[in-house]
Amino acid sequence: MSDAPPPSRSLPARLRRRAVQWTCAAPATLAAPAPVLSFAFDDFPKSALDGADIIERHGGRAGFFACTSYLNTRRADYGDMFDAAAIRALSEREHEIGGHSHMHPNYALLPARAIIDDLDQNTRSLNDLGLRGVVKSFAYPFGETSVTAKRLVASRYLIARGALSGFNSGMVDRAQLRAVALGPDGAHHRRACRMLKAAARRPAWLMLFTHDVSRKPSAYGVTPQCLDDLCRRAIDLGFRLATPTDAALSCGLAASTPGAASPQGRPAGPRVQGQPQAQAVR
Ligand SMILES: [Zn+2]
Repeated sequence: MSDAPPPSRSLPARLRRRAVQWTCAAPATLAAPAPVLSFAFDDFPKSALDGADIIERHGGRAGFFACTSYLNTRRADYGDMFDAAAIRALSEREHEIGGHSHMHPNYALLPARAIIDDLDQNTRSLNDLGLRGVVKSFAYPFGETSVTAKRLVASRYLIARGALSGFNSGMVDRAQLRAVALGPDGAHHRRACRMLKAAARRPAWLMLFTHDVSRKPSAYGVTPQCLDDLCRRAIDLGFRLATPTDAALSCGLAASTPGAASPQGRPAGPRVQGQPQAQAVR
């Protein structure tokens, strides 16, 4: 199992991140007919299945982004990680399984060949686990990416999620969609509530990503109560709780999109003013 060091927050790293952000690898236009919310569980611990139960009780489905070297392992922060039965159960219950790398490296620091090998291994491992169909969505480990990584990912997946805070509407980079981290404390919950209201007004597609679900979650996880409360608020605001790919398609992204990469363009996805650009991401 890989445990790459957390991404640098140095000035050069932040400038590089900004340059990557403004280089649109795969421009697309999204128009949500009604607000749509996708919960996403990264890495992912078995406790995320409790998240699936909660979301299903509100009539929704979610995305589960598997880092395949974590298969059948146990981590000090998350507890037991996913196994083949979890992948099977979630697929049968119409949740989405997405890619999240094999070794959980920092893609911003990898050359193209290493990224390709890691993506290939991630997909192979998911197929070996019995996942049927094409893996259509991807989440960058740590939310970190590069222009090279974005182009490679855009050629394989319909959508990819980074860690830029915000929701998705209008012109976006489908290789670096925006999302909001959902962590264990009240500030995360309040920020998610603000984003729900903002996305409902637009309307737009909001992704909230987290990891474990527990009454005592890790620094990257969420409590069942928080998740249930956000589902209830979202439904009250008129949101549909959809998997990431379902949400993207409902916003008008063509299913045949992957492969169309363009280096030009400046993504104009909205941000809520005052929200921090950098989020703590695993
Ligand atoms: Zn991760």
